[in-house]
Amino acid sequence: MVYKGKIKISKKRRVCKFSGCGHILSIYNPASYCHVHQQLTMMQAYSAPLARR
Ligand SMILES: [Zn+2]
Repeated sequence: MVYKGKIKISKKRRVCKFSGCGHILSIYNPASYCHVHQQLTMMQAYSAPLARR
């Protein structure tokens, strides 16, 4: 297999920041969390003020 190593989208793998997840993010995904935890963190951000009541 010939591999010249000149691929533009070859940034190092980004993994979901959620501890213990290890889901590899798509290079097209600008977020630092995977799809699941992205929603999860958003939900937490919404529910946090409510929890304080
Ligand atoms: Zn994740």
